Amino acid sequence: MAEESSRPPLFVLSDAIHPEAMAWLSRIGIVKVLDDLAPKDHPVVLAEADALIVRRPSFQVTRELISTCPRLRVIGRHGAGVDNVDLQAATEAGIPVTYTPSAPTDSVAELTIGLIVAVARRIVGAHQAVCMGIWHREQFMGMELAGKVLGIIGFGSIGRAVARIAQAMGMRIVAYDPYVSRWPEGVQPVSLRGLLERADVVTIHAPLTSETKGLLGRSELAVMKPGAILVNTARGEIVDEEALAEALREGRLGGAGIDVFSREPIPREHPLLHAPNVVLTPHIGAMTEEAQRRMAMTVVEDVLRVLSGERPSYLANPEVLR
Ligand code: NAD
Repeated sequence: MAEESSRPPLFVLSDAIHPEAMAWLSRIGIVKVLDDLAPKDHPVVLAEADALIVRRPSFQVTRELISTCPRLRVIGRHGAGVDNVDLQAATEAGIPVTYTPSAPTDSVAELTIGLIVAVARRIVGAHQAVCMGIWHREQFMGMELAGKVLGIIGFGSIGRAVARIAQAMGMRIVAYDPYVSRWPEGVQPVSLRGLLERADVVTIHAPLTSETKGLLGRSELAVMKPGAILVNTARGEIVDEEALAEALREGRLGGAGIDVFSREPIPREHPLLHAPNVVLTPHIGAMTEEAQRRMAMTVVEDVLRVLSGERPSYLANPEVLR
């Protein structure tokens, strides 16, 4: 028994994280990466895990999975969204769930601006045409962003970072966030409908919750300005993807930039694949060297804090430590 409790901690990772953070974990305990193991071995490894670190947003930490990890003392989510972790089940099991809320902010904000510009200026289509030897400038008439209205849904870390960059580009900002009471200068708070009716570009930065699931359905997309652009780097399930593809095909919307999907990887028959003027990216908002390192080091630091009985810096289920 004494030998059992004094064994080094076992860190189980859904997939590998930044090498510096992997090296840190290896100095302290045993590291096992589920992606490197056969699926039949996962239950055995999870049953012995002291800490579970989840990098992939598609890796679901369900109530059932938690119940198969009797030794688990902490779950670390390498990312800002915790919608793939059953927080209620973790709390009931007395397991703190840490996450890395500010680590990917600038990278996601920069990708968001990149998607807005790419769609507004049809950069991807223009690039493809040039590569095919086609030089048709008239086909790539775009929309200038300076002076246009950017509607931000969810005005937290990423929403605010996007607002700052967009303001520097001369865009006017309206935002919808029912949980924000203090607004920075130059940002006009509006209702969701008011935002959709006014914005030339709508960008989503709210978390996926039972309230935001399907927030932009068919009827919400229908009140967007004709020719408006929709960008989603938050979570796919916030938008009705079928209705969005239809609005694009019918020319009601001008384009879309989408980094996140209700199913990832997307199925080959996904409706947005065949929609006009879309830029689709494979959930790369936080895929920069800088963000990956920050997220990895933050998650490891907090996981180690919990294992040594300290309070983590970023706790997604604070009620567990009350
Ligand atoms: P945050 O918690 O700082 O901000 C989220 C904001 O959304 C908060 O201000 C909150 O009040 C608001 N909100 C909550 N419910 C809302 C609702 N019903 N309507 C409108 N606003 C609502 O989070 P963040 O760091 O800005 O990240 C936002 C989301 O971005 C994350 O939850 C995550 O899903 C996503 N994300 C994606 C990537 C990526 O790789 N594409 C990377 C990181 C984060």
